[in-house]
Amino acid sequence: MHYDIVIVGGGAGGLELAAQLGRKLGKSLGGERVLLIDKFPFHIWKPTLHEVAAGTLDAHQEGLSYTVLARRNHFSFTMGEFSGLDAQRKSITLAAIQNPEGEEIVPSRIISFKRLVLALGSGSNSFGTPGIENAYLLENVRDAQRFHQDWLSESARASFSSERVLSIAIVGAGATGVELSAELLEAYAALLESLGSNQRFRLDITLVEGGDRILGGLPPKISEQATIALKRKQVKVLVNTRVQELRKGLLITSAGDIAADMIVWAAGIKAADSNAQLGLEVNRLNQFVVDDRLRTSVPEIYALGDCAAAPWVDGKTVPARAQAAHQQASYLAKMFGAMLNEQEVDEPYVYQDFGSLVSLGTTRASEI
Ligand SMILES: Cc1cc2nc3c(=O)[nH]c(=O)nc-3n(C[C@H](O)[C@H](O)[C@H](O)COP(=O)(O)OP(=O)(O)OC[C@H]3O[C@@H](n4cnc5c(N)ncnc54)[C@H](O)[C@@H]3O)c2cc1C
Repeated sequence: MHYDIVIVGGGAGGLELAAQLGRKLGKSLGGERVLLIDKFPFHIWKPTLHEVAAGTLDAHQEGLSYTVLARRNHFSFTMGEFSGLDAQRKSITLAAIQNPEGEEIVPSRIISFKRLVLALGSGSNSFGTPGIENAYLLENVRDAQRFHQDWLSESARASFSSERVLSIAIVGAGATGVELSAELLEAYAALLESLGSNQRFRLDITLVEGGDRILGGLPPKISEQATIALKRKQVKVLVNTRVQELRKGLLITSAGDIAADMIVWAAGIKAADSNAQLGLEVNRLNQFVVDDRLRTSVPEIYALGDCAAAPWVDGKTVPARAQAAHQQASYLAKMFGAMLNEQEVDEPYVYQDFGSLVSLGTTRASEI
C-alpha cells in the first residue's frame, strides 16, 4: 500500500489533519492520497475522557466512527497499531490484528509513504513512582470506561458498607485532575438522587499536588479561584505534597499516608517509550523533536500534538493541549495542500495561546 500522506494517530491533531486534507483534495483524490491510521475504530475527543470516567458522558454515543468520518471527509482510514518505521525505505509497519480469542485476523502490514505525520499523542508520566499500577490512568477510552465501571461498583459497595464512605485520591492538580474532581461530584450528586436515604454514602475527594498551587500552568488568580471553588465543594486540596509510592488503597506522600479506595494518576504526560526506538530525535519525554515547520530529524517525517516537542517562547516547547494539536494540524494541512498543488509556501508554525477553559461543574457536593 502506498499513500502520499500517511497520518498515524486519529486524535485531536491527526483526525483534523486528515479531514482538512481530504476535504481540500476532494472526493476523487482524497481517499487515494491521504491515509489515516488509528489503533481504535472510534475517535473520542480526549479532553472529554474525565467525563467518560465519571459517567457524565457516554463514550458509545460520543464515539465517532473513523470509517464514517473518512467517507464524509474524503480520506482513507485503516485500523492498526503502528509498530515500526523504516525511514530509508519510507515505510511503516502495522502490527497484526488479533481477535479477542488471540487469533490473528489481519496480518502485519507495511505501508509506504511520501510524507509521514506522527500524531500519536501521549500517555501518563509516572515520574518513576513505585506502585503506579495501583492507580487508574486516563490515557484512552478503555481506561476511562474501566474507571467508570469500578466507580459504580465502589459506589455500590460504599452504599452498603458500615462506614458509608467512598474515598478517591487524584494525583496531579492540572486541568485533568481538577476537572475530574468536579465531574465526579456531578456524577455523585446524580447518583445520590437515585439512591434511597438508607443507601446514601459520602464521597471524599482528595486532590494531591506536588507544586505549590493547583492548575500550575494557568495564572495564579485562576488557581486561587479554583481552589476556593473546590474547597467549597468539599474537595480536600493538598499542595506541596509529593507522592513517593502507591500501594493498593494507599498513597505514601511527603505529607504522610493517605488512604483511598480509588487512586487516579493525572500528574503529567509522557509520550510512548517506543518513540525512542524509531531512529528519530526525541526529548526526555519521548516527544519527537521538531523544528518550527514541524519536521522531525528525518526528512519528510513530521510530528504534531502531544507526541511532538515544537519550539515555543523562552526555550519552552508548545504545551500538550488540544488547541495546539488542532493549530498544528491546520498548519500542516495548509503546507501539504500547497505542496500537493506544487506551490511554494514557506512559513513557520507559531503557537497562539487562546487560553484554557477549566470546567468546575455546577453542582455543590451533597452531604449525607
Ligand atoms: C482528561 C483530559 C482532559 C483534557 N482537557 C483538555 C482541555 O480542556 N483543553 C486542551 O487543550 N487539552 C486538554 N487535554 C489534552 C488534550 O486531550 C491533548 O493535548 C490532545 O488530545 C492531543 O492531541 P493529539 O492528536 O496529539 O493526541 P491524541 O488526541 O491523544 O490522539 C492520539 C491518537 O493516536 C492513536 N495512537 C496512539 N498510539 C498509536 C499507535 N501505536 N498506532 C496507532 N494509533 C495510535 C490514539 O488511539 C489516538 O487516537 C486533556 C487531556 C485529558 C486526558
